[in-house]
Amino acid sequence: MSKIYLKTDEEIELIRESCLLVSRTIAETGKYIREGISTIELDKIAEEFIRDHGAKPAFKGYRKEESVFDYTLCVSVNEQVVHGVPGSYVLKNGDIVSVDCGVLKNGFYGDSAYTFAVGDISNEVKQLLTATKESLYKGIENAVAGKRIGDISSAVEEHVSKLGYGIVRELVGHGIGRNLHEAPEVPNYGKRGSGVRMEEGLVIAIEPMINMGKRDIQVEKDGWTISAIDKKPSAHFEHTVAVKKGKADILTTFEFIEQEVKLTKETV
Ligand code: MG
Ligand code: MG
Repeated sequence: MSKIYLKTDEEIELIRESCLLVSRTIAETGKYIREGISTIELDKIAEEFIRDHGAKPAFKGYRKEESVFDYTLCVSVNEQVVHGVPGSYVLKNGDIVSVDCGVLKNGFYGDSAYTFAVGDISNEVKQLLTATKESLYKGIENAVAGKRIGDISSAVEEHVSKLGYGIVRELVGHGIGRNLHEAPEVPNYGKRGSGVRMEEGLVIAIEPMINMGKRDIQVEKDGWTISAIDKKPSAHFEHTVAVKKGKADILTTFEFIEQEVKLTKETV
């Protein structure tokens, strides 16, 4: 994954279509996030919604060495950072749950993630969610033509490191388009002014993964789920954005999710 594919305006509109479906799918899933629902039930809701809209779940069938990911969502609860495998776990009051979703439509991928609170969460955890989401937007402010990837990375890092949080380094954001993961990598830490210079037409997924405790992670026995070793909560927010002159064009949106959350529960 070394070649950078710049997209035409027409291609960006197709990516936007996939991104809107991803955003609506996460919002639809969010309607059902409450104490008592299992993560596999959330996965089924998302898969049906995507297929009903003429698209394919992007993560289903994703291969890593010998193993195949057989689900629509990555559902990562509490200390799980990302790549959580949907299953029999039943959500309980006070959990946080990251829902990461990708779709493929018209040959183009969209990718987004949002971390939801289940019922009442502590102020400490609320602050983690708020700061992680804010850091995503700090990163996006730097996704403009002429700046470098390191400007995004350092903006994310500066925002969360002052709160003492751990920034996951082993996993990064990425280019996206006809492939779910393309060059360049978009780390959530780094030096201002370093890395690839961004041009108009670059489409990237920016996705801070922020731990309340230390940054160290491990892969769970299922071979997919990534967790914080110290078992403290971890948050994850992701947008797909197109780099433009002056201001990034955010192709995914949290608007549908947050309308839904406002109707049913407290928003972060
Ligand atoms: Mg994602
Ligand atoms: Mg991604």
